[in-house]
Amino acid sequence: MNVSLSTQSRKMVFHLAGCPYERRIRYANREEISRNEAVHMGYRSCRYCGTMRAYHHIQEWYLDGVRRKSGVEFTLVKDTDTLYMRTDVGFWKIFNSGEMKYSLYHLNHFDPSLTTERMIHSTFHRQNDVRPSSSPNQLIRYILKHDEAMKIIADDYRKLPQNTRKEKKYYEIAKRRDRRQKGRRVNMLLDSLSRGETPASKWVSIS
Ligand SMILES: [Zn+2]
Repeated sequence: MNVSLSTQSRKMVFHLAGCPYERRIRYANREEISRNEAVHMGYRSCRYCGTMRAYHHIQEWYLDGVRRKSGVEFTLVKDTDTLYMRTDVGFWKIFNSGEMKYSLYHLNHFDPSLTTERMIHSTFHRQNDVRPSSSPNQLIRYILKHDEAMKIIADDYRKLPQNTRKEKKYYEIAKRRDRRQKGRRVNMLLDSLSRGETPASKWVSIS
């Protein structure tokens, strides 16, 4: 995502499109470049639009669309300037690590019966296959794709798309995981049988 800046500014600040301060930049002095270029030139993010809070406000229409279309839930925690996103199968944290660079974290153990409040205070890991971005929208699109894939895997990993290199990689990961889980289920079944127990119904349906 590009940012806007004034080439004549002594404050050396860059803005997100839609920031009220961005609109004050004269057309002749305005330049749109990438966030990384702006930082490289010595510019810093605007104190207003460089926050998750302002992003949440400026991009409200976008977040509303995602909410309506995908049934996800967004929670903005103003104290830590962090946005949380809850889907059917996962819980995510988009953290502003400064200068309009947003990193993505994934909840370690998703349990749909937990409240959002509880999940916010649980442990997350950094989602390493997605680079930090100046655009939370980009991270949100990643989350939607990721969790859509998770739902397919839970059903049958063989239905996953295999068009791109990344999709092929996910397919292989899902395939390995599926084999491991099947192996584990068989072991648990053998275990309970050897103890003379009646296997629980969920272990019976092994294909
Ligand atoms: Zn701004």
